[in-house]
Amino acid sequence: MLEVIHLTKKYGKTLAADDVGFTVPDGKIGILLGPNGAGKSTVIKSIAGLLRFKGAVRIQGQDSRTMEAKKCFAYVPELPYMYEALTVREHIEFISRAYGISISEEEVSALFGRFELSDKQEKLGNELSKGMMQKVSICCALITRPKVILLDEPMVGLDPAAIKELKAQILELKSQGCTVLISTHMLEMVKELWDVTFVMDKGHILGTYAKEALAHEDLEELYFSVTGQAERPAQNGR
Ligand code: ATP
Repeated sequence: MLEVIHLTKKYGKTLAADDVGFTVPDGKIGILLGPNGAGKSTVIKSIAGLLRFKGAVRIQGQDSRTMEAKKCFAYVPELPYMYEALTVREHIEFISRAYGISISEEEVSALFGRFELSDKQEKLGNELSKGMMQKVSICCALITRPKVILLDEPMVGLDPAAIKELKAQILELKSQGCTVLISTHMLEMVKELWDVTFVMDKGHILGTYAKEALAHEDLEELYFSVTGQAERPAQNGR
């Protein structure tokens, strides 16, 4: 379970997150939505431990700053970070050692196969395309067998096969009881994934919506009705 409690973050005079609170239960997929500048990245970076903030974040009931919480938490950032001197294969080894996880040859091969990285294993971090880096970043997160995973715009830069695979992986994680939070603007990509969505604007959570409690489940309609952002009519018949 992921709990965000009274999270407040100011940059100088800008109140980027104002008393933000939400919970993603075990085995559920939460989606964080909001227009540009709503405060999503601020919340994501706070959960991931990259920003100082007021309030609390709990991962499986533990304060997110504790080692216990960090061990069961994985984060896929919007912009993948690669170690230039490590090969793809060494990235997996490095992360598994850092987390004290033993991972078999078969598991690594299967994961690389699913993300079409099998023939990229010996490439260095700085020899990869952006999409390949994103895939390595996702693999590094998955091998830690997280109980809670946070993905920031995970589909950006991925090819259609990788998007399909990532969606399947996310649903597998959910079926294993993992808690998932995704921040995205790509509503179409998460429409078959989400269980609960949190809509933010101007640093506030405008509403929390559980799919099972809604009469209709159209995420796009929900987003536009909550944010008041108009759906732009198609021009010239396009
Ligand atoms: P986007 O969808 O465009 O990525 P967002 O919802 O992630 O937007 P944030 O990046 O969290 O929004 O920004 C929230 C507010 O905080 C904005 O007003 C932004 O200008 C401000 N902000 C973000 N980062 C900083 C920073 N490092 N210093 C000062 N202000 C910042």
